[in-house]
Parts: sequence; structure tokens; C-alpha cells
Amino acid sequence: MSTNPLKSHFRAPKLFTRLPSGGAFYSEGVLELSNTGEVEVYAMTSRDEVMMRNPDALLNGESVAQIITSCVPQVKKPRDLLGADVDALMVAIQGATYGDEVTVSTNCPECGNTVIGAGSVQASLATMKEVPTDIKVEQDGLTIELRPVTYETTIAAGVSNFQNARSMASIAMIEDDMEKLQAFNQSYMKMAELNFLVILDSIYSISGTDENGEEFIVTDRDNIREYMENCDSEVGKRVTEQVNLLGEAGIDKTVSLQCQEEACGHIFETNLEFDPVNFSTAS
Ligand SMILES: [Zn+2]
Repeated sequence: MSTNPLKSHFRAPKLFTRLPSGGAFYSEGVLELSNTGEVEVYAMTSRDEVMMRNPDALLNGESVAQIITSCVPQVKKPRDLLGADVDALMVAIQGATYGDEVTVSTNCPECGNTVIGAGSVQASLATMKEVPTDIKVEQDGLTIELRPVTYETTIAAGVSNFQNARSMASIAMIEDDMEKLQAFNQSYMKMAELNFLVILDSIYSISGTDENGEEFIVTDRDNIREYMENCDSEVGKRVTEQVNLLGEAGIDKTVSLQCQEEACGHIFETNLEFDPVNFSTAS
């Protein structure tokens, strides 16, 4: 075995963070939390930074998956992470790479004056809202346990919205009414399929009691899909309502600013930009 004399100069973890999920909802092998429920976060390498600038890889989530693998080695399967956890990790990686302070520049909603403020990565991570683990729907003797959507589904939804916006624009250009209707229907069907996938992905498990009085719990994705394709539409509606409650979990990106214009002094809130597309140019 050869040893690299440079090894002691490799990057060391810069910070530790909890995750909004606290590791709940994951099957074995997705991530390994420390005893304190945290993960170590390293700064990006120059290769990671190059990945960050590839727009195609960003759109399909490949960049983010690779960067998490590089900077958070305790995550073994980044694509299986919940969207809220990916969000928190990307903020932590930004902090590990570029420092704690995140500057924000925006216009005062009252007078239009430019207001510059700063937020803190550590403060955002420290105040993250945990994903509730007790959101469920009871239906026909079944208990449907819910979770926030995975990063994979978030990406699929983003790509699909992007394609849909483009096809809606091209549908508007079609002159023939029948063709227009057909194109519209196709686009509508795609959106409906996506909605279904989001609902499906939000279901963590379905449990109940069988005819022999034995309790069962189903986590198999194919079994859950088959149930959702064959159950009352009421189930989908109720799941959607509850999923919205889960959307509130995660890191807080808002920061409070005050307009420096003397006559104004307006106090307002804005969002910190932790968007990976923006932060590659933020250093
Ligand atoms: Zn103002």
C-alpha cells in the first residue's frame, strides 16, 4: 500500500450540521449520521466548483448529487435524500467553502433604494425546522404515513415545469384548433402524471391489519403505487392537503433588513440566496 505524503494536507471538515429530517424516513445505506445526529461538511474542491457552473448538470441534479458526495462523505446516496435535507446541505457547503456570511442586496419595497444586508450560514442551520414525523392520513382502516418529497422528485418536478412552460408557449402558436386541443391535452396529462408522482413520493408507509388480524406495514414503492392507482381519489386529495404541512420544514432563508434611506427606514424581510446557481459566483 502506497501512502501519499500529501495526505495530511487534504481538506478537513469545516463544520457540522444536523439535517431537517434528523435521518428519519431513510432506508439503510442512504446516510450515516454521527452519534450526535450530525454530518461533517467539507469545502468544495476546484472540481466541485467547476461542476457548479455546468447548467445542464445543475438542471438534472447531477452536479448537486456529486458535490454532496464530495463534501459530505457521510451521505452515501445523495439522490435518495429528501429535498429539505439537500437544501440544508447546500447551505452548509456554501458556508464551508466561502465563509459564514452571506450578503444580500435588494431594493426597498417602499422607496426603491438599494439595501444591502447579511445573513449567517450557521444561524440558518441552527434554526432549521425539523420535519414532523407524525403527519398521517387515516383512510378505510389504513394509516398512510407521509414524508416530504425526495430530491429526485424535486428535480423531476423542476424539469417538468420547465418543459411545460415551454410547450404552453409553443401551443399558443398553433393555429389549427384541433391540433391545439390535442397538444394541450398531452401537456395536461404530463402534469397530472407529475402530480401523481409527487403524491406517491410523499407516502412513506401504509399500515393496517389484514383479515387474520395480523398487522402489516408496506414500504415497497411498487405496492404503494399499485394501491394509489386503485384507491378512491379522496385518498390523493387528503394526502395532498397534509403534504403542504411538510413543506414548512427545513432551513429558514429569510433575513430582516432596514432601509438606510433617512426619510424611509422601512423594515422588511427578504430571502437569502442559497441557490447553487448563484453561489458559484458569490465568492
Ligand atoms: Zn426605503
